[in-house]
Amino acid sequence: MILADFLAFNVNGLYCKYGDFYLDPQQPVFNAVVSHAHADHAIAGNQQVYCTAATAAFMQLRYGKNAAKKFNLSNWHQYFSVGGVDISFIPAGHMLGSAQVVMQYKGITYLYTGDYKLQPDATCEPIEWLKADVLITESTFANPATLHPNPIAEIKKLNAIGINILLGAYSLGKAQRLIRMINDYAPEKKILIHHRIMPLNAIYEKQGMALGAHQVYNRKAMKKQDGYVYIVPPFTFDSYYHATGVKRLFASGWKNLQANEHDTLYLSDHADWNDILFAVAQVSPQQIWTLHGNGQFIKNHFQDNIQVRILNGANSQMF
Ligand SMILES: [Zn+2]
Ligand SMILES: [Zn+2]
Repeated sequence: MILADFLAFNVNGLYCKYGDFYLDPQQPVFNAVVSHAHADHAIAGNQQVYCTAATAAFMQLRYGKNAAKKFNLSNWHQYFSVGGVDISFIPAGHMLGSAQVVMQYKGITYLYTGDYKLQPDATCEPIEWLKADVLITESTFANPATLHPNPIAEIKKLNAIGINILLGAYSLGKAQRLIRMINDYAPEKKILIHHRIMPLNAIYEKQGMALGAHQVYNRKAMKKQDGYVYIVPPFTFDSYYHATGVKRLFASGWKNLQANEHDTLYLSDHADWNDILFAVAQVSPQQIWTLHGNGQFIKNHFQDNIQVRILNGANSQMF
């Protein structure tokens, strides 16, 4: 029997009382199962952190000694037990090391997606599927009006830009995906990287994800027009608001984060509406529980055949 209270939000985040653990807790807790290393999912200060090796490496880089009292690393598909709930990770395709969390308890399988994407991404493990009784899915872009364009066509837009490009992107996940895609689909471009992104790139390379050619930014290089693409984190992108001689683009699935209405680069690391429908077909759940964003469209869409519950508590997520 599906337990309606298997997961519920409290002040610390999404809690499983049957195993006494949290999924991506928002406050430091004793048992934290962390789906991936983005800062809105992986915070510092937890005691026991259960995650993949890549997620631990990113957390250690960001938080140092406060990353966790103890990391309990798990390989894909390898089961471990937390408080009597059997847990394993399968890839979520969102960024390197990003996991969906499979939870089995009293004969019922609950699948928590974390953030996930279906688009191809050569810098992370491709998403995998598993049948589950309950699908707990993010609903960041769960709106029939939101359909992500082809990511390769988006990147190929860079080829038509004759001046240097200042490319804003989140430092973890998006920046590395861009480096790989520019190398693959806009190979004439020369990629410069903001120094703050370089240690994250090093973790990718160490984990066996080759990003392709890129070098750390230096002031001299961008002074001439030579097909440069300079990838910078959001705060640097914003500070270059008045830059001249460069085309400014911000890579994101969000319309409101684009540089302007003419200069767009839609590249999302989340599922869009069709992806969510595909996910539901793959998992074939009896129930869907939604979180992050607005689950109402999913609820309306499946009202005649799958029970949909909107779990409250978390703010909408951007990364
Ligand atoms: Zn997120
Ligand atoms: Zn994320």
